Amino acid sequence: MKKYDVLVIGGGIFGVTAAVELAKRKYKVGLLNPDTLPHHMAASTDVTKAVRMEYGSDREYFKMAERSIQLWREWNNVFGKKLYHEVGFLMLCRKPIESGEQSFEKFSYRELLRNGYEVEQLPPSEIRKRFPAINAQTYSEAIYNPIGGYANATLTLTTLMAHARELGVHVHEGQTVNRIDTDTDMVKGVGTMENEKYAADRVLVAAGPHTPVLVPELRPYMKSTGHPVFWLRPNDTKKFSGDNFPVFTADISNTGWYGFPYLEEQGIVKLAKHSNGSEIDPEKGDRRVSDAEVEEMRSFVKESFPGLANAPLVYTRRCLYTDTLDGHFWIDNHPTIKGLSVSSGGSGHGLKMAPLLGPMAADIVEGKTHEFSSRYRWRHLTKDTVQVEEARYVIDRKI
Ligand SMILES: Cc1cc2nc3c(=O)[nH]c(=O)nc-3n(C[C@H](O)[C@H](O)[C@H](O)COP(=O)(O)OP(=O)(O)OC[C@H]3O[C@@H](n4cnc5c(N)ncnc54)[C@H](O)[C@@H]3O)c2cc1C
Repeated sequence: MKKYDVLVIGGGIFGVTAAVELAKRKYKVGLLNPDTLPHHMAASTDVTKAVRMEYGSDREYFKMAERSIQLWREWNNVFGKKLYHEVGFLMLCRKPIESGEQSFEKFSYRELLRNGYEVEQLPPSEIRKRFPAINAQTYSEAIYNPIGGYANATLTLTTLMAHARELGVHVHEGQTVNRIDTDTDMVKGVGTMENEKYAADRVLVAAGPHTPVLVPELRPYMKSTGHPVFWLRPNDTKKFSGDNFPVFTADISNTGWYGFPYLEEQGIVKLAKHSNGSEIDPEKGDRRVSDAEVEEMRSFVKESFPGLANAPLVYTRRCLYTDTLDGHFWIDNHPTIKGLSVSSGGSGHGLKMAPLLGPMAADIVEGKTHEFSSRYRWRHLTKDTVQVEEARYVIDRKI
């Protein structure tokens, strides 16, 4: 039987960043994942994920995102690849920013100014001039921040996985963990559906939506929700290129809509919705996007980006958030099983923090705290817990 210091369960962004960091700290690390990596169903496997400092009035996420962006830039240099694209971030507002209905945008803007960022507040005439694809009749104001953009998530995963292997991580593909072995409340290792056993002193579960399946004590606090993603093929690609069409949110905390500039490789503009989503079984749930959702997307596009109104819809996907009830990540040790840790609960906004996730998880595995550990601790949440990530459009703030 193979024996490791630490076994990481799951090769999405939470798992691979932890494996890299633990290997750097000289542990013998094994990583297990079903099928091949990057896994086609993983949330982390995607062409783009938004990287933004805009977090409303939440100063802790602001600080994390600010730091993360510095590290994304370093990753681009270290790996010699464009994992992070700094195309800017544009918050579109339907109502004036001071109207009281744009509090996410208002507080994000204030926080950026407070920290000395040169952010621009644009009236419709400027929106029209600078970003011609956007219908300036729909959006009365916009805040443009040149810092921010998107990460090529799949490229980031494959790059980090290759780096993990170079650092000596043993990556076992085709391994689906179906039990965590313990002995008098101490971790001994794991077993897989493929009838393999792996021994380890410490096990870190980073299995995305499957995390509460493997650690059932988390079920009251964590669940998976499905969210539609759309790829449209525009005619006028120039209008939607990064210079003219940055990563945007469209009154996001009241609608959920956001999207990305034209991607040359795929020939598409990607749109998605950051909202409640629908609860879904990660194993058996239907991942198809419904006609009603397509209809809703079409109506949003028609009033926001007329040039995309008739663009062919070339791909849809339902991607799973690993939601915690309060919207914060979950990176901590199990309260009673020694050697068992969890790094998960991305809640639809975890990928941008990729450069910080590994060190946070590794500190926890080592029994240390870190600057942000209190927020991501093992905590008791109830049905009255509210979801506090301010960008997300959540009805009654309940997931
Ligand atoms: C539609 C959508 C849009 C998003 N947009 C953004 C964004 O713009 N910006 C942002 O910052 N974040 C965004 N996110 C969130 C971000 O993608 C997630 O927080 C992050 O990718 C979660 O990573 P993970 O490693 O926890 O999970 P996953 O990426 O799902 O990885 C989990 C891994 O565990 C493996 N696994 C599952 N079961 C087992 C098992 N039994 N044994 C072993 N391995 C197992 C899976 O195969 C998978 O590889 C978005 C998410 C979605 C769904």
